[in-house]
Amino acid sequence: DRAAPPPDPETDGLAAALRGDLVTPADPGYDLARQIWNGSVDRRPAAIAYCAGVADVIAAVRHAAATGVPFAVRSGGHSFPGQSLCDGGLVADLSRLKGIRIDPEARTARVQAGVLLGELDHETQQFGQAVPAGIVTHTGLAGLTLGGGIGWLMRRHGLTIDQLLSVDLVTAEGGYVRASENENPDLFWGVRGGGGNFGIVTEFEFRLNPVGPAVLAGPIIWDAADSARLLRFYREWIADVPDGLTTAVVHRKALPLPEIPSEWHGRPIAVVICCWTGDLDEGERVLRPLRRFGPPVADLCRAKPFTEHQAMLDPSYPRRRWYYFKSFDTAELTDEIIEITDDRVRGIRSPLTSFPIFHLGGAISRTGEDDTAFSGRSAGHTFNINGSCAGPEGFEEEREWVRDFWSALTRHHTGVYVNFLMDEGDSRIEQAYGAAKYRRLRALKRRWDPGNLFRLNQNIPPAED
Ligand code: FAD
Repeated sequence: DRAAPPPDPETDGLAAALRGDLVTPADPGYDLARQIWNGSVDRRPAAIAYCAGVADVIAAVRHAAATGVPFAVRSGGHSFPGQSLCDGGLVADLSRLKGIRIDPEARTARVQAGVLLGELDHETQQFGQAVPAGIVTHTGLAGLTLGGGIGWLMRRHGLTIDQLLSVDLVTAEGGYVRASENENPDLFWGVRGGGGNFGIVTEFEFRLNPVGPAVLAGPIIWDAADSARLLRFYREWIADVPDGLTTAVVHRKALPLPEIPSEWHGRPIAVVICCWTGDLDEGERVLRPLRRFGPPVADLCRAKPFTEHQAMLDPSYPRRRWYYFKSFDTAELTDEIIEITDDRVRGIRSPLTSFPIFHLGGAISRTGEDDTAFSGRSAGHTFNINGSCAGPEGFEEEREWVRDFWSALTRHHTGVYVNFLMDEGDSRIEQAYGAAKYRRLRALKRRWDPGNLFRLNQNIPPAED
């Protein structure tokens, strides 16, 4: 019953072209519709197209190409810098594309772009299978996959893209193609790490791997005062652990959780989070040296359903808090890295700030560096330094802490995972790929999106003549 919105060249004609809804500032649901995970991002698109299917995605692409308005693509809305939202212009939202089809015989899954990680685990685990993906269940599978995809299964089963068999994709011209090893193989190479630069993926096809249902997993927590000693021990221990074990070291102030003794709540802790897939007794043997490191504040590593482990970190990264990240890869945990980390951890102010240091290697390093657009297969660790606050209060100080910590380790940076970048400029995107791969990606971009329609992303500009 509300008044018709005034004509707007940014959205004119689009509503009629969609099966799904077009939400504009005139709609009561607009403010909710323009929210994304990172609460520090506040942008006002002229319209959000909730795509109901491939035809709507094509309609959105054609509209954006014809009008030249800013054009963002949103699946799970978890982009750290909020690149899935624009000021003015159009957002193609794929969150309603929720189809998942498991083929238990062929051990494959067809997954539409709006699926979140927890939704995929729910379906695959029914058949004792999994796709290696990320560590928080409400992350979007689409953006995560297109950047590479690291998580608790990566050392055994590789990156998410290492299990990718094909994609269906809407091109910048509004065409619809499939990419796999055999069809459009150049595009298939590019979407495995090159992000949303080459088109909008509407559906992914993955190979499945047996996982669980029980895994030996969870955090073992120590006093952060022992951080340097723990990291030195950890460095030796992980040097030859089997690929069935993926771990990350997390520093933060202890959350007031019932599993953590109350006298530790709010105090700085150093945590090793483990995920062992495979025979549970063997896993216990692999973990024994870690358990003997010293008396922990709490040892919460035990046999549990894989899906329970996957959801463990959800409360640490809720929607709408303010988040700031700076990330880098490094070859190994040198003494200097350990000393600086130990020192900087003492400067964490916010009870919400926490940062993982992921242990890479294993299956990730068994795929060739040039086989996919993802870069950094020989990296030893990824630091993802994250400062977080409930809102703007204290956020600037937390950001300063993140930047200072990151800068203090500059000489150890070997690269950066593209999905862990904020808006950091072209040179950082080039760093994420390395000069040679960046050139190859620019040539590919020229072929598939010469007008750079898909530019609200970690953008790879089309190669010039
Ligand atoms: P969106 O914000 O919807 O999209 C991000 C960008 O991806 C868009 O700007 C667009 O360029 C592109 N894009 C999205 N959908 C499509 C599509 N269908 N077709 C083409 N391009 C598209 N990463 C990991 O690897 N491992 C982790 O464990 C991990 N954990 C995370 C936990 C949290 C809480 C968060 C916020 C992020 C995490 N990430 C992780 C980073 C994550 O991979 C990226 O933020 C990723 O972009 C999220 O995907 P999305 O679909 O939710 O994002």
